[in-house]
Amino acid sequence: MILILSSNIDSKSDTFNRLLDHLSSLDNIQLRVHRVQGTEQTLTEVYLLGNTSAIAAEDLKTLPGVERVVRISEEYRVLGRHNDDSRRAHFDYQGLRFGQDTLHVFAGLCAVDNAEHVELMMRTLRDNGQVCTRMGAYKPRTSPYSFQGHRQKCLPYVFDLAGKYGIRVVAMEITHESQIDEINEALNRTGHPTGVMLQIGTRNTQNFELLKIVGRQQEFPVLLKRGFGITLSESLHAAEYLASEGNQKVVFGLRGVKTSMGDPHRNFVDVADVPVVKRLTRMPVCIDPSHAVGSRSAGPEGILDVMHATAQGVIVGANMVLVDFHPEPYRALVDGPQALRLEELPWFLEDVEIAREAYKKRAALAGVTRQNVLSSVRR
Ligand code: PEP
Ligand code: MN
Repeated sequence: MILILSSNIDSKSDTFNRLLDHLSSLDNIQLRVHRVQGTEQTLTEVYLLGNTSAIAAEDLKTLPGVERVVRISEEYRVLGRHNDDSRRAHFDYQGLRFGQDTLHVFAGLCAVDNAEHVELMMRTLRDNGQVCTRMGAYKPRTSPYSFQGHRQKCLPYVFDLAGKYGIRVVAMEITHESQIDEINEALNRTGHPTGVMLQIGTRNTQNFELLKIVGRQQEFPVLLKRGFGITLSESLHAAEYLASEGNQKVVFGLRGVKTSMGDPHRNFVDVADVPVVKRLTRMPVCIDPSHAVGSRSAGPEGILDVMHATAQGVIVGANMVLVDFHPEPYRALVDGPQALRLEELPWFLEDVEIAREAYKKRAALAGVTRQNVLSSVRR
């Protein structure tokens, strides 16, 4: 059960303390308090964990300081959508809104190789009106002998160049908690020219200790990729680890799954799960067509499979697209075969726009039609 308290309630006030005293006296119930910082107000949510079936929601609703009571199911307590749950499905970061209604493209380098390529990428993004990117500094590689990323060394120039070209958010995978400190240090050293969305990759989806630590910090939002060899539900529980530790600024990433039917793509493309995740949880959903498709193959009409997969995800409501680009894909140190060329960015963005417009039209049509259909069926 979740109690949503009056906005901006002071945690030192008598009302708050009396309420917590009362709730603490309930038998077999543990409390967990979450504060959700918005741009205009701070929301306080109190989670009642344990056997809540005997507690009447109506009684709690009348307590001073309580605005709403939501009875939640066991699954995805913090991030899930529950009955009568009108909690928000967005967060704000760096002046951008990330929600189930918005769309942001994060085109960029799978792995940072040198400052020149980073600058070419950033400049192209700016010239095409983009304010987000992806930049891999810490690369989790299958072989220990493969390039592991330039790691801490590249952070200052990545952040400086992001600032220079007006990039507000850089999605960056971390593979170990110490890298959060390294990122923080580099941001401090460069004067915070940009923001970072920490990415947890598919190989770490169930690295629970990493999830707990990343969840305990609230400075950076998190993009959690689904695990490529586990169920969707297991991956959503992993997202819940972040939120249960306090960080609700979580985007859920679909990047394809390993199946024996993955051919001809690197992974089985899973964009059909976009509306599923949006229905089960309040998280914005990201698609990663590059890691799902894994090549620059194209259909007979000339549209690249990466663009087809992107359009398929966007037309069903994806909120973020993480996509590999590279100035010289054949020289990229990681995942060159799936990278799009900088010259393809305007085409890619226009294609995304077509799919987004189609999604909006479909959502508007559903809004008008569904009610009519339902009421005519009832009659
Ligand atoms: C990546 O985005 O660079 C990456 C390694 O992705 P994934 O964890 O989905 O394989
Ligand atoms: Mn990659």
